[in-house]
Amino acid sequence: MRDHGNGDLLLVSEAVCQQVIDQTSAFDAVEAVFAAMANGQAQNFPVVRQAIGYADALYGFKSGFDSAGLVLGVKSGGYWPHNADNGLTNHQSTIFLFDPDTGCLQALVGGNYLTAVRTAAASAVSIAHLARANAEVIGMVGAGHQSAFQLRAAAAQRDFKKVVAWNRSPKNLQQLESVAVGLGLDFEAVSPEQLGASADVIITITSAFGPLLADADIRPGTHISCMGTDTRGKQEVDPEIMSRSRVFTDEIAQSISIGEAQHAISLGLVTADAITSIGEVINGQHQGRINDDDVTLFDGTGVGLQDLAVASAAVRLADKQGLATKISL
Ligand code: NAD
Repeated sequence: MRDHGNGDLLLVSEAVCQQVIDQTSAFDAVEAVFAAMANGQAQNFPVVRQAIGYADALYGFKSGFDSAGLVLGVKSGGYWPHNADNGLTNHQSTIFLFDPDTGCLQALVGGNYLTAVRTAAASAVSIAHLARANAEVIGMVGAGHQSAFQLRAAAAQRDFKKVVAWNRSPKNLQQLESVAVGLGLDFEAVSPEQLGASADVIITITSAFGPLLADADIRPGTHISCMGTDTRGKQEVDPEIMSRSRVFTDEIAQSISIGEAQHAISLGLVTADAITSIGEVINGQHQGRINDDDVTLFDGTGVGLQDLAVASAAVRLADKQGLATKISL
């Protein structure tokens, strides 16, 4: 009989999540759950995401069950675009974990920091498995809240020497520049065309609704992590790029409906069966990159199981270190 605890509810705050979950633990949790998804051991349930008609907010639920890790739960929250003006993170979320044997609520976990690290971890997992081993220049498209997390996690995957970056408002590139400098990397603000011409790995992490990178900008051998498109209508790259790329994703159903692939699919440039789950590459069921001059594209749409995986790791570590607050139910 599994230990179901003593009925305590564990509260793990944002600050504690930052203390206990580092880039490596997030990477490991996300890589493991992508592998479980590809093996059929973990399943995401249908996502609810709605404009609430107030504060321009998008609100919803992402839930799932990982039978390999025995993690059941839901992330509730969304995107409040005006929060940054008031010193708050635009993404706001909380993760609820339940005992899969009993349905009892086990933990409430702050989801803001975890959303950023699990999203960065997804992109980093794709770089680890798909980018050329000799990649030296990383291109960042976007300079919002997620971008610094993305750059730090990506930088751990290859021996990068330089960051080239573009943002709609160039003055917002300063924070990304200080992250790059802190990592010991050269930094240059460039146009999208220059970015494509020099980057070996590109991360797009914006809220754009139209292509920021043209097909002609992308060189053979590039790996692109498209991380910003997680809603119908959003778009970051020219769909033609997909037709000449090996395309991978966290979850195919999301990729073709709310991910970057939605556009290439609706134009008939790619079909769903040409898109591979990154978990298959992790599990060795798919080769991933085949040639050095392949363009590989990871469509990171963001699945609930990523949130649950890092939240479960946070609860385990916080409990072990005596950092979780316990409430008797
Ligand atoms: P943010 O609001 O802090 O930053 C938004 C970024 O998008 C800025 O760089 C801004 O300049 C850029 N941008 C906005 N509109 C643009 C446009 N029309 N053209 C070009 N650039 C534009 O947001 P964030 O927290 O950094 O998140 C960035 C995006 O990533 C959001 O759209 C968010 O929904 C998405 N996201 C995806 C996942 C996932 O798992 N795939 C997870 C978290 C966030």
